[in-house]
Amino acid sequence: MDKKHEILKKFFGYDSFRQGQESLIDGILSGRDVFGIMPTGSGKSLCFQIPALIMDGITLVISPLISLMKDQVATLNQAGIHAAYLNSSLTAAQYFKALNFAKQGRYPIIYVAPERLETDGFLDFALNAKIAMVAVDEAHCVSQWGQDFRPSYLKIVEFIKRLPKRPIVSAFTATATKEVREDIIDILMLQEPVVTTTGYDRPNLYLGVQAPKDKYGALKNFVSTHQGQCGIVYCLTRKLVEEVSDRLREDGVSVTRYHAGLSDGERRQNQDDFIYDRCQVMVATNAFGMGIDKSNVRFVIHYNMPKSIEAFYQEIGRCSRDQEPGECILFYSGQDVVTNQRFIDNNQDNQELDSLTRQIVQERDRERLRKMTFYCFTNECLRDYILRYFGEYGSNYCGNCQNCNTQFEETDVTEIAKGLVGCVSSSRQRYGVNVIIDTVHGANTTKIRQYRMDENPFYGTLREVPVFRLRQVMNHMMLKNYLSVTNDEYAIVKLTGLSGQITEGSQIVMMKMAKEQERTGRENSGKKAKKGSKAGVQLSQEGEKLFEKLRVLRADIARGEGVPPYIVFSDKTLVSMCIIKPQSKVQMLSVSGIGEFKFEKYGERFLACVKEAVGEEESPEELSFEEDRLFFMDDDREEIDIEPVKAMVRPAKTEFFMTEELMEQIHYSERTSLSDFVGQINDLRDDFSMKRLTIKSVEDWLTQKGCFDIKVLNGRPRKQINEKGRAFGIEAEKKISMSGNEYEVFFYGKDAQTKIVKWLWDNRKGK
Ligand code: ADP
Ligand code: MG
Ligand code: ZN
Repeated sequence: MDKKHEILKKFFGYDSFRQGQESLIDGILSGRDVFGIMPTGSGKSLCFQIPALIMDGITLVISPLISLMKDQVATLNQAGIHAAYLNSSLTAAQYFKALNFAKQGRYPIIYVAPERLETDGFLDFALNAKIAMVAVDEAHCVSQWGQDFRPSYLKIVEFIKRLPKRPIVSAFTATATKEVREDIIDILMLQEPVVTTTGYDRPNLYLGVQAPKDKYGALKNFVSTHQGQCGIVYCLTRKLVEEVSDRLREDGVSVTRYHAGLSDGERRQNQDDFIYDRCQVMVATNAFGMGIDKSNVRFVIHYNMPKSIEAFYQEIGRCSRDQEPGECILFYSGQDVVTNQRFIDNNQDNQELDSLTRQIVQERDRERLRKMTFYCFTNECLRDYILRYFGEYGSNYCGNCQNCNTQFEETDVTEIAKGLVGCVSSSRQRYGVNVIIDTVHGANTTKIRQYRMDENPFYGTLREVPVFRLRQVMNHMMLKNYLSVTNDEYAIVKLTGLSGQITEGSQIVMMKMAKEQERTGRENSGKKAKKGSKAGVQLSQEGEKLFEKLRVLRADIARGEGVPPYIVFSDKTLVSMCIIKPQSKVQMLSVSGIGEFKFEKYGERFLACVKEAVGEEESPEELSFEEDRLFFMDDDREEIDIEPVKAMVRPAKTEFFMTEELMEQIHYSERTSLSDFVGQINDLRDDFSMKRLTIKSVEDWLTQKGCFDIKVLNGRPRKQINEKGRAFGIEAEKKISMSGNEYEVFFYGKDAQTKIVKWLWDNRKGK
């Protein structure tokens, strides 16, 4: 066995690497810089921890948050690896003691806060020590484009430059957008890094969107059907956090709360209660979560729609980090859009920006909010929608989201559309969505009478259409811009330039609507398996009993050592124990998550617990391995059933091709970016039957035509525009990145836009 596999097994107790880990580890071991872009929970830490244990010298890990450092150091110490952290949570005496140990070479891995890098005490140590690698965790913190920009991260490069010998630099992030990636390579000055991107897909997470009238009722129902599972409920405001957590507590749920308005003490206490499994549900604002490595969070409910897909993806990323099944449900309401809009308009962080930059930033934020809102309305695969947002192209059917499990049919909703537009128009565009819907539905409420909407010519004309359907059509009308809604808190429905087409009757409105669900085998089994399942596995009755015993033992040990239970062993490891029922050290070591060191510490106690439990069973031989296997096989069988459904629901999309109709609608502007231009074409195409035009395909063609020169700058290839490119109609604008590197942004003039369309037309399908 080679060294890295040996360490993986011995210290971490795992048999094999996950996707992406090996190439990054090999890169580091061969002396290269590396850049790992992998989703939350995919195992980035091991990628620097394992080489740190092999290389000669110290690995410094830069990490933005104290809680993150503590957690990782605790995990390493539990695995028998000497590691320490240097940050402001230590007293001066503790800090110097740790620094002294570091000088003596006791720690192969040291976590350090970026602010510390410049301090004299730390520099004195670092300049005289042998630093083999600087690993930058959560590397997106260097980028202003990212969600969590930290100015102190900009000090990392300065620090590296001061070291007598440049160490290997490795960077890790879960943020996928292009701007952030480029910033990381630029600003950290990575030298020809080995870049590994593993898919953003988290297939273990079930995705769903609901628009419950009674959000709290829906939440309560969800929590009560997920007894014994941990979960996070995200709310947009502090007030809502308090309200929801209070109500849950009154309803007997084991709940705690977290937001930036609480005292440090309460926040720490509540976070610990959640991490240490003392509370089942955490209700929190987006202030909660970064640095939470808890692996057995089984659901993330968004009580409100967040501000962007980035934020959403990061938050659901905290669900089931151990890769077991988890559920992520978003509760949408129109009010969420309004609240988010208000946040964008009043964002204090933007106040320091000059007015032009502020406008650009706000525009970008509005666009992000728009894309987030579309997520709530799309009838396409929800996972595919997210992956596309991050520039990945998944299959358009995942089989594990609400939309994939629902069948759609194309429905003519022109009559409903006419009623809605007519009602808005005849009431002189003065009311919000609810009043309009209540009016056409013929509701007999005080409000309606007060507004005298019961005298409106459209009152009750759509009485027979259920309210949820009216709402769906209303949303569709807004998506398609037949109606719009004001950005203020009143959210008034307004007519648009397209509304006339509806009232005139010149436009037929088609919409995909969910068919009444036919229950597939998978769905039923999904429900069955979830109830009472542990880490997604259905245990036998004896297995359940054993699991409970092991859990109690784990809690005892964790309490004794002052660490969260999952740091002793994860749920997954306990479940493996329940299935394998190890009777010896060798069998125990075959359990996933148990290495030599952990066996030394806890092995005997868990062995005793298993033996005792098995001894109590009547005929231990018969109900061991084989029986539990059956439960897995059950699941396997169900998987197969899904194929024919897939074929029925979603016909495969064709590759993109230019059509006459599409070509007529393209708007050519004086100057645009390629991504905006391609985006426009994609918005115009028929999304149901045709795949997207990719920016890459256009870029490849332009490169082939010789419009660009490729130059190597700072160790990585950069495109530069040449004579041919300029003649084509592409202009370049020079920009300076924050680290002082020059780069170019390309703009496409009318001429260039026309030529691109001509090329697409000349190469269209079936020509
Ligand atoms: P990230 O930093 O990418 O969000 P972590 O490094 O915190 O993810 O790892 C998430 C979980 O995955 C941890 O519990 C870790 O022990 C586990 N893990 C990492 N690598 C492996 C592997 N090769 N096999 C099994 N589990 C792994
Ligand atoms: Mg991490
Ligand atoms: Zn799907």
